[in-house]
Amino acid sequence: MSTTIGVLAVQGDVREHLRVLGGLGVRATTVRRPSEVEACDGLVVPGGESTTMAKLARAFDLLEPLRQRVKEGLPVFGTCAGMIMLADRVEDGTADQETIGGLDITVRRNAFGRQVDSFEEDLSFEGLAEPVHAVFIRAPWVEAVGSEVEVLARVNSGPAAGRIVAVRQGPLMATSFHPEVGGDPRVHRRFVDLVEGS
Ligand code: GLN
Repeated sequence: MSTTIGVLAVQGDVREHLRVLGGLGVRATTVRRPSEVEACDGLVVPGGESTTMAKLARAFDLLEPLRQRVKEGLPVFGTCAGMIMLADRVEDGTADQETIGGLDITVRRNAFGRQVDSFEEDLSFEGLAEPVHAVFIRAPWVEAVGSEVEVLARVNSGPAAGRIVAVRQGPLMATSFHPEVGGDPRVHRRFVDLVEGS
């Protein structure tokens, strides 16, 4: 059976992820219903706005099924707002902000501050030979990681140098930046390999 990767499609840059996954030859579908959560072998949670995404996921009865599947070991890749959605702890979230959780990290929302809302940087990424061109848009950073979490990338330079911006914990992967933007499929390839168990 071929692998199906869902993209949580309640809000955010869904199309960009579908395009990258499609380009890798993977069956990629939108996920908006609990039955669609059940049908996928892996899931991408896109960039967007985590507070809105969480509210919509709650309204569409997706949060509990998603939490359940994460508990059962579903591979999930979150980018930017998607990283926040996977985090167990959120700093600078709204008071009632919910997440799917599962990733033992503390993320800080909009961590890079107003003056650097958006920026791009070439980052070395664990396991990839060439640096990744990373696009950050109102991005979070990872403030703290639990002992099971592997750090995949950090900011290279500037005031935020050393900040963690990509992590993995078992089948869960997350980046503060947007690998779905910019035409480099290697980070998604990493995730697809994780889903396919290679
Ligand atoms: N700042 C957004 C949030 O808090 C994330 C931004 C993004 O995904 N580009 O959800």
